[in-house]
Formats: sequence, structure tokens, C-alpha cells
Amino acid sequence: MSKDYKEPLPVSPVQPVALGLEEKFRFRCHQGIACFNRCCESIDILLMPYDIVRLKNRLDVSSREFIDRYTRDSELDAHGMPGLKLAKKPGTSACVFLTAEGCGVYEDRPSACRYYALGLMAMKKKDTDVEEDAYFVVKEAHCLGHEEAHTQTVGEYRREQGVDVYDEKNRDWRRIILKKRSSGPAVGRPSQRSFELFFLASYDIDGFRAFVASEGFRRVFELDEGYYAKLLADEDELLAFAHRYLRQVLYGEQSIALRADEAARRAAIYQAKLAARATQSGEDKARQQDEFYESLLDDDQPGERGE
Ligand code: SF4
Ligand code: SF4
Repeated sequence: MSKDYKEPLPVSPVQPVALGLEEKFRFRCHQGIACFNRCCESIDILLMPYDIVRLKNRLDVSSREFIDRYTRDSELDAHGMPGLKLAKKPGTSACVFLTAEGCGVYEDRPSACRYYALGLMAMKKKDTDVEEDAYFVVKEAHCLGHEEAHTQTVGEYRREQGVDVYDEKNRDWRRIILKKRSSGPAVGRPSQRSFELFFLASYDIDGFRAFVASEGFRRVFELDEGYYAKLLADEDELLAFAHRYLRQVLYGEQSIALRADEAARRAAIYQAKLAARATQSGEDKARQQDEFYESLLDDDQPGERGE
């Protein structure tokens, strides 16, 4: 073989044309199609927070139990930001929920399953900070749906698949991930405790509820009583709050008021620690913020993996 020979790059199934909501594509999936179930026989599906809420409620298990039984660990970025993927049946690459009749959790299937054979990508508009969703057709050889004589717009397909609801619930969380990825190495590797908080607020909604209900949380955060009661009773509200909480913990967006006395007490402790350090760089400040929020976990210790 010539030393100049190079293996051809694998051809991506993602078609290079970005589609908008009003643009049409050709595709139809139905039970009678020859490839029925093929797409679920070899999976690589990243789960988003609302996927887990829907599935754990359908299966009537806690989020912790769902995570332990039906997911596998993954990473969302080079820093090891924790992610979760749908589990496979033991010894196979098939989805844990696949049955001979099709998807065993169809009405509550994850967002990625609803989108297929479309892919969703958030793209920054040129020269602005504004993000826009773009859609791409994913054409894999085994999928015969692309040969069906049926076209629809991206918007019609999203509504038919119920994915518009999922996108709404996961939107804030996706923005948090995008921001983390686009800030890259400049921000540095978050601490292990930040990862634990991220995991709790992203995936373990029942653990996060226990955290919000805890004495330690109440001692530190000032929330309107009516809103607080709603958070504990309404899972959708709690999920939205979890993402707000993450923005505060990870990016310092102060949208949840701290109780003045507790904030002052904790700030004094950490200021004293910092004063002992020779210099206070930007990294120190970021660490101070990390330590502040990590201390909330030290108080209450909810939702660590493996509990
Ligand atoms: S959840 Fe359902 S649709 Fe998604 S991969 Fe599993 S079996 Fe297929
Ligand atoms: S048409 Fe595509 S999406 Fe539908 S069952 Fe076949 S492989 Fe899966």
C-alpha cells in the first residue's frame, strides 16, 4: 500500500443541509415497514432531564431507581460533565425498552427517539450571541423510511411526534450545556461537587425535590411561600427551577434570592479562607462561588450517585 494512502473518512449519515421549521423532508415510519425496529437495535441515546421525568413516571419508579436500572454513564464534554445514556439490553446493543411489538415506552419515549430521522442542533447566528435551532435529516442505510412517498414540514413532524413539548421543557438545560461547551477551557474544570450538583439538578428530580425541601436549603434561600409549595407539588415547576438553580450555581446568575443573614455568614467564612490565600485571581473567585454552593450539599448530602 502506498504510504500516501489514507483511509476514507466515514460518511456521516447527517445530511449537510440545515432545515427550518417550514421546510419539507421526505420520510415516514410505520409498523408495516420492512425495517421496523431496526433503529432501536443499535442505540446511542443521550437522555435529557424531561426524558427522565416522563420515563420514571411511566414506569412508576423514583428518578434514582430509573437512573440505576435504565441508564448508563456518559460525559457531555471534555471536562467530564456527567451525562446519561439509555441502557441497552444485556449483551446486545438494543434499547432496553425494545419489544417485538416495537417501543415498550412509546408514549413517553425520549426526545432523540421522537426526532429521528431528524437531528436537532443549536447554532449561533453569525456575529451574534443568538442561538437558533436547526434541523438535519439523518439518513442511515438501514432506515427505509426515507423511501416512503410522504413528505411533511419539520414543524409538522415535530408536532406529530410531540417533541415540541420536550423541547420546551429541556430548552433551558440545553442552553446551560451549550454555554458550558462554548466557554471551553477558559472556565476550567468544575469541581467534583459542582458535577454532583449538576447531576442532581439535571437527572435526579426526586433527589432534587428532597434537597429543595431540606432544612439546609430553606435556611439559605428566600422563596415566596406560595411558590415554594408549588415547587414541591408540581414536577414541571420543579424542573424549571432546577435549571434556574443550575444557572446560579454554574454561572453566578443570581435569580434565587439568598437569605441575608445566611449569605453574610457563609460569605464571611469563605472570605476568611480566601484571605489566607496569597493572591485572589479570577480562578479563586470562581472557586469561592463553587465552595459556597457545594457547602449546601455538605449540609444535606442528598442525591449523590450510589446512595
Ligand atoms: S425508547 Fe423506544 S423508540 Fe427509543 S430506542 Fe428505545 S425502543 Fe426505540
Ligand atoms: S423507518 Fe427508520 S425509524 Fe422507522 S422503524 Fe425503520 S429504521 Fe426505524
